[in-house]
Amino acid sequence: MGKLLIVGTVAFDAIETPFGKTDKILGGAATYIGLSAANFKTESAIVSVVGHDFPEKYLDLLRDKNINLDGLEVVPDGKTFFWRGRYHNDMNTRDTLDTQLNVLADFEPQVPENFKNSEIIMLGNLHPAVQLSVIEQLTDPKLIILDTMNFWMDTTLDLLKEVITKVDVITINDEEARQLSGEYSLVKAARAIHKMGPKYVVIKKGEHGALLFYKDEVFFAPALPLEEVFDPTGAGDTFAGGFSGYLAETQDISFENMKNAIIYGSNLASFCVEKFGTEKMQNLDIVDINQRLKEFRSLTQFEINLT
Ligand code: AMP
Repeated sequence: MGKLLIVGTVAFDAIETPFGKTDKILGGAATYIGLSAANFKTESAIVSVVGHDFPEKYLDLLRDKNINLDGLEVVPDGKTFFWRGRYHNDMNTRDTLDTQLNVLADFEPQVPENFKNSEIIMLGNLHPAVQLSVIEQLTDPKLIILDTMNFWMDTTLDLLKEVITKVDVITINDEEARQLSGEYSLVKAARAIHKMGPKYVVIKKGEHGALLFYKDEVFFAPALPLEEVFDPTGAGDTFAGGFSGYLAETQDISFENMKNAIIYGSNLASFCVEKFGTEKMQNLDIVDINQRLKEFRSLTQFEINLT
């Protein structure tokens, strides 16, 4: 069992999808990553920041999942990060309507003493300066995984590129991979991103699955075709939580094991989208998780005779 250090926003989200609309609910990259990674045998901690307006019951929800919150700062006179997004009819694309950094704007992260030697580091989406500061506090990281989004490419690209030089794995969606690399072909985009630093490049394609690029090899994990998708928010982070949680539990960071990690990530993301916000991720059943893993297996296995 390895230690997993999670960095990312702990936030309020307001979400609109074709199926409904929510007011400020619990969200944030680190929240989804933590809830997802809680399905694995790891010791995990979140480094993040919230304001005085953040309800104690949300913190309890994370504590109940055995997530260490010593590195979660509560700023008494500040407001929590807020994001508002609206999905298009296809649910694969969305517009960000509002991003209020609030307490995140000048957050100086403190990694808890007993998590400085974490093996697996999941740098979820937030300000690259925070991601950089966390990297500097680590004593013996085995694998650093980075997730980011277009907001940071638009606002602080140079700093983000510096972070990218320091990580082993990057997970981004297809549009962001194109934006970052300037290449339309995802194969070329992955190659260009490899050159920026990360040995492994994971490109998420929403309901069309995810690709893992390593050297000249590529592995593909489909997304499970679902009857109902209510809200894709957090799917990428849930994927990242499953990916990093599985690697922390197994302590095997080989390419072969990363293929399984991608499947675990995709599997957990498939649950996340079935309800609004974090609702579904708050109480997942191991029996349901395993049942879906079987579905993943039968979805992708076939025997073919080569002539
Ligand atoms: P995902 O759907 O996986 O891309 O993640 C959605 C989550 O990311 C939401 O819960 C938001 O609170 C959070 N989020 C949105 N924009 C940002 C941003 N610029 N930085 C960090 N987190 C963000």
